[in-house]
Amino acid sequence: MQLLRLGDTGAAVAEVCAALVDLGHLPISASKPIFDRSVDHAVRAFQQHRGLIVDGIVGSATYRALKEASYKLGARTLIYQLAAPMSGDDVVTLQTRLLELGFNSGRPDGVFGPQTDNALRSFQCECGVTGDGICGPETLRALGYLARMASGGSPHRIREEEAVRLSGPQLRGKRIVIDPGHGGDDRGVSASAYGVDGLGAELAEADVVWDLACLLEGRLAATGVETFLSRPKHANPPASERAAFANSCGADLLISLHTDANASPQAQGVASFHFGSSDGANSTIGEMLGGFILREIVARTGMQNCRNHGRTWDLLRLTKMPAVHLELGYLSNGADSEVLAQPRMRDAIAEALVVGVKRLYMLGVDDQPTGTFTFEGLLADEMSG
Ligand SMILES: [Zn+2]
Repeated sequence: MQLLRLGDTGAAVAEVCAALVDLGHLPISASKPIFDRSVDHAVRAFQQHRGLIVDGIVGSATYRALKEASYKLGARTLIYQLAAPMSGDDVVTLQTRLLELGFNSGRPDGVFGPQTDNALRSFQCECGVTGDGICGPETLRALGYLARMASGGSPHRIREEEAVRLSGPQLRGKRIVIDPGHGGDDRGVSASAYGVDGLGAELAEADVVWDLACLLEGRLAATGVETFLSRPKHANPPASERAAFANSCGADLLISLHTDANASPQAQGVASFHFGSSDGANSTIGEMLGGFILREIVARTGMQNCRNHGRTWDLLRLTKMPAVHLELGYLSNGADSEVLAQPRMRDAIAEALVVGVKRLYMLGVDDQPTGTFTFEGLLADEMSG
């Protein structure tokens, strides 16, 4: 190519200027067809930055480097080309993301070689994208989402998150098992056992969570979710049977409903438990779902947020799908009991649960503030999607 230097003019100079503007080496107002002092200065700065010979002259090496620096990940499809490997800043970004996710693409050198190709194919296989070694839109979405979600994520976590991502934002067609705790002779905890009078109502855990389960089932069904209850009204199967039932349904999620009690009357609030063990195994989707649900409940009821906790309980351990065990307030606490005694508040909790699930499938990208996303709004979104 023709060398460009101080004093030159023309379309090629304008192109170089535009590239330098994009890279921040020239101010935005500086796109011009004249290679003046400021352009010379910018070229030298760029050359220094890239480890090129600093001479202020745009020859083939500098020109290629300018082109490579202008590629942002996603601007072109990346693939391993044996004869002429692709290179550029987009390749550096790809290599860095793969490394962060635990796929060894080697040193991020900006050259799409065989090791990058291997790492990309492994990533694609792990996350259910066609393993073709082509970094196109589908792979980019997976990378972008996962880079935000799981820096340092394990393949298992990636699979769980990918399943959610690939299933799309709509609730319609998803399968959710609702697990009302206790049942039959097992009434769970009760307010009266703690001397608490929930607005005159006799509150027993098994009844409260059965009612909540029915409210939740109705709302989920209205959005097109296939719902299943883990038990009949008057039965109390063990956790292993409830988990086996959810597995046999091929459920996408399991939501277990409980209320808590404590000898201390001050203990109050809502908490969520997901699968998580001390060796680092963790259901990030369970954790996310629990987080969304708790925040929505707190915004609607004023109950306290007692947060997410990892546990290895049978129900969480034996279910193949992400699962949350929710403790929806303390029947031993006066304020929580008053909330749970009111039909209006039970409706609000059921709405919070549906909105929490919806937020999970929207991957938390919706910008509706917590507590403002209504069931009606959600239905409208489902219809439009
Ligand atoms: Zn319980």
